[in-house]
Amino acid sequence: MTTNADRIAAALRPLAPDNRLMPNEVPVINSLGELWEARAGSGVLVPAVAAGKYKLGKASMDRLANVRREIALTAMLAITLTVQDFVVLQTLRSVDEQRKAVASGNSRTMKSKHLPDETGKARAADLAAWENGAISWEFGRYADIAFAMDQAATQLGYAGNIRWGCAWDRVLSDFGGNRQAYLNEAEAYAKRHAGSDLIDGPHFEWVA
Ligand SMILES: [Zn+2]
Repeated sequence: MTTNADRIAAALRPLAPDNRLMPNEVPVINSLGELWEARAGSGVLVPAVAAGKYKLGKASMDRLANVRREIALTAMLAITLTVQDFVVLQTLRSVDEQRKAVASGNSRTMKSKHLPDETGKARAADLAAWENGAISWEFGRYADIAFAMDQAATQLGYAGNIRWGCAWDRVLSDFGGNRQAYLNEAEAYAKRHAGSDLIDGPHFEWVA
């Protein structure tokens, strides 16, 4: 039987050196898998504040196989914590796809972290809010996702290395621990850097 832990491990293995998972990742993967199994089997609706009701689908998991493992693992943990469902919209882009993204205004740079790094993986993932079977661009939903990514990254020890596309001069560990902090930060950033940068709610990237 394929467990959720197996599925998570299968998504992460291609990202790992020599296709081997890091010893310190195995307990996290196992507990994530158990969490997903327990929630799937219980049939109990988890209170909204406790969340835990969402899962990433196959397309999202496939996309996470093409991004740096720290971002992949953070998104996988975040989906178990978030009050706002999300999908992984995009991770890796080819140079051609990046040119198109710039041409259409979805990106402002040809130095994007969606382009492959030296290992062939992206260093950024775009997470889109999922509501009633479709993507929602309502901004407040992206603050909920950013909060879940912060909670997950903090648990994994990555919060000092992940940046949200609504505050390009901050990392997740700079934020306060609630949804409002993200809304405030996005607004403050827009004032700090008026007009120059793209405010990119779905975007999370690894900062080395
Ligand atoms: Zn992006």
